[in-house]
Amino acid sequence: MEIKILKNIMHANQRLAQENRQLFDERKITAVNVMASPGAGKTSTILKVIEALRDEINIGVIEGDIASSIDAEKIDRLGIPVVQINTGGGCHLDANMIGTVMPDLNLKDHAILFVENVGNLVCPSTFDLGETIRMVIASVPEGHDKPFKYTSMFEAADVIILNKVDLMPYIDFDKDSFYKGIRAVNEKAPVFEVSCRTGEGLDEFIGWMRSIVK
Ligand code: MG
Ligand code: ZN
Repeated sequence: MEIKILKNIMHANQRLAQENRQLFDERKITAVNVMASPGAGKTSTILKVIEALRDEINIGVIEGDIASSIDAEKIDRLGIPVVQINTGGGCHLDANMIGTVMPDLNLKDHAILFVENVGNLVCPSTFDLGETIRMVIASVPEGHDKPFKYTSMFEAADVIILNKVDLMPYIDFDKDSFYKGIRAVNEKAPVFEVSCRTGEGLDEFIGWMRSIVK
């Protein structure tokens, strides 16, 4: 019985994700589903892209959090269109939430839409939002074993960011092992090594972001 209910939920999500995808296609919106553990640097990465590209590309943000609007306020202060989704304890965003808030987001066409998912490396990977790009952010303090432990997240990624590389000298982070874990499940996603704190590696990543805009 439980299996049947789960199947129905996933089927309904898939249908709504398809509607979102169609809307994004029509409006030439590049929707980026940003997934990571809490504290890996999802909001920091989004803020860095806004800072670098806001004068040349329209950008909007959907902020998903279990509670609070701290991150959405940071985006709003920059004058970037943003809506907050509080999941009220829910550990991921789903396609229905995205479709519901889209009319409230004052986003122009030909834009990048960041969807900051709830901080969690597990179930966000199984809920299609209709996104164009799946971005997974890992960070050095979390350790190099994350790709081995959360395979479905890294398998589904279109791009992977390794953040906080400035902390590499202080932490036993085996970079070869990290890459081995990624390549075991994902042969082609580009990996960008960055530090949102020092700015290291950001130019290359920003260049890639520029290249994916529709
Ligand atoms: Mg955040
Ligand atoms: Zn969940």
